[in-house]
Amino acid sequence: MKHIVSQQRAFFYTHQTKSIDYRLKQLNKLEKLLKSNENLLNEAIYKDFKKSTFDTYATELALIYHDIKYAKRNIYKWSKVKRVGTNLLNFPAKSYIIPEPLGVCLVIGAWNYPYQLTLSPVVAAISAGNTVVIKPSELAVNTSAVMAKLINENFDPKYLKVVEGGVSETTVLLENKFDKIFFTGSPQVGKIVYQAAAKNLTPVTLELGGKSPAFVTEECNLKMAVKRMVWAKFVNAGQTCIAPDYILVHKSIENQFLELLKFEIKKEKFSIENGNYTQIINIKNLERLSNMIPSEKVYFGGGINTLERTIQPTVLQGVKFIDKVMNEEIFGPILPVIAYDNLEDAISYVNSNPKPLSCYLFSNSKKIKENVLRKISFGGGAINEAIMHISNPKLPFGGVGNSGIGSYHGEAGFKSFTHYKSILDKSNLIELSLKYYPHSKRKLSWIRFFMKL
Ligand code: NAD
Repeated sequence: MKHIVSQQRAFFYTHQTKSIDYRLKQLNKLEKLLKSNENLLNEAIYKDFKKSTFDTYATELALIYHDIKYAKRNIYKWSKVKRVGTNLLNFPAKSYIIPEPLGVCLVIGAWNYPYQLTLSPVVAAISAGNTVVIKPSELAVNTSAVMAKLINENFDPKYLKVVEGGVSETTVLLENKFDKIFFTGSPQVGKIVYQAAAKNLTPVTLELGGKSPAFVTEECNLKMAVKRMVWAKFVNAGQTCIAPDYILVHKSIENQFLELLKFEIKKEKFSIENGNYTQIINIKNLERLSNMIPSEKVYFGGGINTLERTIQPTVLQGVKFIDKVMNEEIFGPILPVIAYDNLEDAISYVNSNPKPLSCYLFSNSKKIKENVLRKISFGGGAINEAIMHISNPKLPFGGVGNSGIGSYHGEAGFKSFTHYKSILDKSNLIELSLKYYPHSKRKLSWIRFFMKL
């Protein structure tokens, strides 16, 4: 691994990756490679957790292609040297900011959207002119292998290299000095990565998780809210970092909400055969999720098939904040519903917990929208929608506090792999004597004057 990193660093210092032409060529190459191997990608992800071709395209590949297209369209604009004004104190001079790549980057991916979460950061790193070591999640073993095969057989390891492995391999990787580490995964492992990065003062982007609430208020369009929420929660069998983790619904509409929820889940007919559902990634997670379901609180679903490694879409009713299901991120197809009387109490509950990655609000009340957005800090989210904010590249995607550091997608991705180098380019025409010895009161008052401007 040491060799891979030093090879990449040596290549980075040939400065080839910095040319926009080079970056565009690599983006085109990656796009072509993925497009011409979609069959392999589909087969691998189906082997891992039976994700369908439809969902693989809609929730993974389409987003990567979109990121590539968006980066290609904007790369000249993002990479441009930006002129800024010069203050009077420095007159006459030009001031400008040069976006420069950080260098050798490490991207560590998660398993739940294995292509998108691993390759979208790579697209951002390439656009910004870096080299990348890529470590996919070992839990999605086939997708990790297919990414390794495609990238390692088609790209120079001095530029892009997939390193496969789990905790021990990642630990060894993290002993190396990178110029940027981009990590997607749990807050617990995020802390390990952050500590390893700190040893070299390496900047990080940490895309983490947490419990993302969804508020359903009396003033919402309930039917539409339920339709959108059901898809957002159960796509990928709930194994989505920004899925609504639990629902806070106003007591007056709780029963109606639950009935509609049941109706919509039945209508969607979630199943592997229908291509709109997946397996739970492994038995360990299936057991973890099974232990979260209190049978007496199951309103709908609750069926567990260990052989198939699936859990039915499950709705829990009458959940209390102290219940086990409310103590950790669910990351599966279990949806606790908690009724509230007073919105302020529900807001206080959310604020008494770590800052969520996402928050959703289903409401048509302007006052409630403003209130929730003002009082709750979270990574990003949506109003009258859920999880779709990720698909707008103009919205930086990331967490805050326990749910992450930094953001990506679109220009935010480019920025997270870029250093903005500030330059004062001074003219030799004149030189004020103000800063030079001998000092005087008059010089000081001139300095005071200039600094006020
Ligand atoms: P994870 O933290 O267990 O693993 C993520 C990556 O870290 C994997 O590549 C894994 O090999 C590596 N890793 C695991 N243990 C390690 C260790 N001790 N030292 C070094 N590396 C280690 O997370 P996961 O199970 O793959 O994903 C689930 C979590 O990720 C959830 O919390 C979810 O919310 C979060 N997530 C966040 C986003 C986001 O965009 N913010 C996206 C997907 C998942």
